[in-house]
Amino acid sequence: MAKVVCVLYDDPVDGYPKSYARDDLPTIAGYPGGQTLPTPKAVDFQPGTLLGSVSGELGLRKYLESLGHTLVVTSDKDGPDSVLERELHDAEIVISQPFWPAYLTAERIAKAPKLKLALTAGIGSDHVDLQAAIERGVTVAEVTYCNSISVSEHVVMMILGLVRNYIPSYQWVVKGGWNIADCVTRSYDVEGMHVGTVAAGRIGLAVLRRLKPFDMHLHYTDRHRLPAEVEQELGLTWHATREEMYKVCDVVTLNCPLHPETEHMINEDTLKLFKRGAYLVNTARGKLCDRDAIARALENGQLAGYAGDVWFPQPAPKDHPWRTMPHHGMTPHISGTSLSAQARYAAGTREILECYFEGRPIRDEYLIVQGGALAGTGAHSYSKGNATGGSEEAAKFKKAG
Ligand code: NDP
Repeated sequence: MAKVVCVLYDDPVDGYPKSYARDDLPTIAGYPGGQTLPTPKAVDFQPGTLLGSVSGELGLRKYLESLGHTLVVTSDKDGPDSVLERELHDAEIVISQPFWPAYLTAERIAKAPKLKLALTAGIGSDHVDLQAAIERGVTVAEVTYCNSISVSEHVVMMILGLVRNYIPSYQWVVKGGWNIADCVTRSYDVEGMHVGTVAAGRIGLAVLRRLKPFDMHLHYTDRHRLPAEVEQELGLTWHATREEMYKVCDVVTLNCPLHPETEHMINEDTLKLFKRGAYLVNTARGKLCDRDAIARALENGQLAGYAGDVWFPQPAPKDHPWRTMPHHGMTPHISGTSLSAQARYAAGTREILECYFEGRPIRDEYLIVQGGALAGTGAHSYSKGNATGGSEEAAKFKKAG
């Protein structure tokens, strides 16, 4: 029988909810492009409830225990004394969400000799040392598409929030003010602006589609070019390099995976290519950007605003400069874990577990690493190597209390 260790974020500070703001979720027929929604044989949860926190258990306990497996659920994931470290020695499966990532470094994988499956309940498996997983023959899988649309909505919200100066204006209301001039001296329309996405995969393309009705000029750069009819339909300008795209954009959004090729791609040098006063929105991964270079660019006006929900490490230490830098619109990592998204990725997690335990193949689109090599989506979108370096810093959040 297998031991499954599931690392989830903490319950709300006032306890696991007894009621919700809405009674149900809208019905979604499928994903754009035709990929089907998760297809588990059954689920043991009510869609629309909080599944991603410790008490929600991704709705997995009944299913796993009915098969005789052991489920350990914890939020205690960082540092050598964490529950995760203590449970690794006989864990066969580790489930983790990118919002509260269980960093599976090479050292941790070495401490887990029985580990066979690292399952991401979400999208983005950069918290796993993929090189170590490849070498050890550990399968890495994620629930492709489960929250791509959720994130694209967040990106659009953040672009509008930054350009229109929403957060500082909201704060004037809360402070009891009516300071219109203070609000509008940094407020613009997005109409007519040039917006570019680094990567036009599921999220990047969905962002472009959502921005089209705002009459913005749409740009993208990607390793593979979109079909000509899509470029035509949306009026897209493709750029062969990121650098070429940065130069012409008022707003840049990052929507590519983190892997050794993309780590710190936004840095002191590449920021110099941006138009002065550009806005940068990053909901992909914190480590795509050099932390201190972003803070400096906001301080010296090279960037007019920065927003996103991804940090490195996560949780971000209390003294992380992105908490206090000027003109930012950061949230904790939430864009892909709306209640709507949770229902999909909990179902997808269940689907992957059913495949694993029943000896059926995991869908190709869910695979990142299998059989000692990048596989499926991983072979298409990732490169070999490790992007977990520095993740031990996450323990600083716990120490600070
Ligand atoms: P997709 O796999 O659909 O898209 C990723 C795209 O990135 C692909 O088009 C890929 O290109 C492209 N890409 C990879 N490397 C590069 C590179 N070096 N330069 C330019 N483009 C590159 O994934 P999603 O759109 O669903 O998700 C993208 C990322 O967003 C995830 O990897 C994850 O990190 C993040 N994410 C964040 C969430 C959140 O909650 N904030 C939730 C979900 C995802 P090609 O296919 O041409 O190789």
